[in-house]
Amino acid sequence: MIPVNTPVIPLEAKTFVNDCLDTGWISSAGSYIQQFENDFAKYVNRKYAVAVSNGTVSLHVALAALEIGHGDEVIVPAFTIISCLNAILYTGAKPVIVDVEPDIFTLDPKQLEKAYSPRTKAIMPVHIYGHPADMDPIIEFATKHNLYIIEDAAETHGALYKGKNCGSFGEISSFSFFANKLITTGEGGMIVTDDYKLAETARELRNLCHLPNQRFHHKTLGFNYRITNIQAAIGCAQLLHADEYLERKKKMGMLYDEGLAGIPGIEIMKIRSWADSSYWMYPVRITENSGMNRDEFKEKLKQNGVDSRDFFWSLSEQPILKKFDVKVLECSVSEKIAREGCYLPSGLALTELEIIKIIKIVKKIVL
Ligand SMILES: *Cc1c(COP(=O)(O)O)cnc(C)c1O
Repeated sequence: MIPVNTPVIPLEAKTFVNDCLDTGWISSAGSYIQQFENDFAKYVNRKYAVAVSNGTVSLHVALAALEIGHGDEVIVPAFTIISCLNAILYTGAKPVIVDVEPDIFTLDPKQLEKAYSPRTKAIMPVHIYGHPADMDPIIEFATKHNLYIIEDAAETHGALYKGKNCGSFGEISSFSFFANKLITTGEGGMIVTDDYKLAETARELRNLCHLPNQRFHHKTLGFNYRITNIQAAIGCAQLLHADEYLERKKKMGMLYDEGLAGIPGIEIMKIRSWADSSYWMYPVRITENSGMNRDEFKEKLKQNGVDSRDFFWSLSEQPILKKFDVKVLECSVSEKIAREGCYLPSGLALTELEIIKIIKIVKKIVL
């Protein structure tokens, strides 16, 4: 079976991790954390970075650092992982779920007006599968109404929007370093910002909010969202290869694009003219012309030795909504693509020959 993802661990990771083990710096102090933060801030063109235990809690810290909570509303796109919704719910704020654009699966700026209320505090755009959201109209709307932007860039390490790094927009941006992300630490996350005070607040929230001059005294509700030096050591090693990984992903994506373009029943993701996609995962939608549904397509892939994964299930249809105060706008696009879509093997360990084989199998299945 060709797996959807196999992480690539560079040799330096072993050296750096052994260094942690040999020196005893295995916990959340140790020099790799600061190095990882500094290197990552540079990598995405931000002034400050704060590393945390995963990309879900980094969204939570981002919201908490902006003091978003009860009585506030946060606009979030329907087509994303549950982490985005959960992070808003953790703070006590109310998520307002809006639909996405049909070609690139990201927050549809045209929905913002309908979603807005005097309680709206922030917008959380999410870049999807390596393709940036259309940030300019989102920023324009946020500026007009004085809203924060919390950018979820967990799927777009290295991608660019109009020449600028994903993760460099808005007050705070969030990244994940889960095993299938372009840069991984096994589990891990990062908040990046240009605002010194927000970065300091995030640092305090990550570590239980000890008072600066009075350890074990607390005025604010903090969390233990610390990352370990060992994880950061893997991150430092991965960052040394970030450009090379990105090039490889793009090549893989373009190879898929070439092979799968124009096949009736298979819709590939469009790339907007302003986007420099990182091709993080390779998504396809199985439409009526194929004569089968997504699940049948996936089953046939499996019979031919190719693994795949379903798209996210639309936030607008999550059973968990019943338990919370959530506002859901019409989300027909998100609900449709959630049913049609899956992504093909896209891990860095995938070879060109494997991609060519997968393309052949897809053609055999639907043609
Ligand atoms: C992976 C991911 C996250 C969450 O990251 P974890 O590290 O798994 O908690 C958040 N948002 C998006 C869009 C993701 O793809």
